[in-house]
Amino acid sequence: MDCLFCKIVNGDIPAHVLFEDGDVIAFEDIMPQAPSHFLVIPRRHISTLNDLTDADANVVGKLQITAAKVAKQKGIADSGYRVVMNCNEAGGQTVYHIHMHVLGGRAMTWPPG
Ligand code: 5GP
Ligand code: ZN
Repeated sequence: MDCLFCKIVNGDIPAHVLFEDGDVIAFEDIMPQAPSHFLVIPRRHISTLNDLTDADANVVGKLQITAAKVAKQKGIADSGYRVVMNCNEAGGQTVYHIHMHVLGGRAMTWPPG
């Protein structure tokens, strides 16, 4: 499959991996939008949030739990961080393999643009 994040999962494209297990991988975003900006993805290809089914509950839960775990590991947990998942064009999605953005190390603004 011609998917960028599947290529990272398969090791065809290098990434700075922060955490991985049998279900998920966390790695540094290549164009960080904050002092700390990493992504958490499922190993299994899911194109958008709209494609989730009840069978995905476990892996989606693991994305969030991994985000919190790696945020602690990176030392941004206590000061605070933001978790974002973009869906489709108006949501700002550019890579069609679901991913959780975790941004920290600076104050965030609200609402997001
Ligand atoms: P989206 O816009 O789909 O929500 O987020 C895609 C994210 O993937 C962007 O923040 C972008 O910087 C990141 N990204 C795109 N290509 C690569 C890559 O080859 N390696 C890594 N580590 N991140 C990437
Ligand atoms: Zn994929």
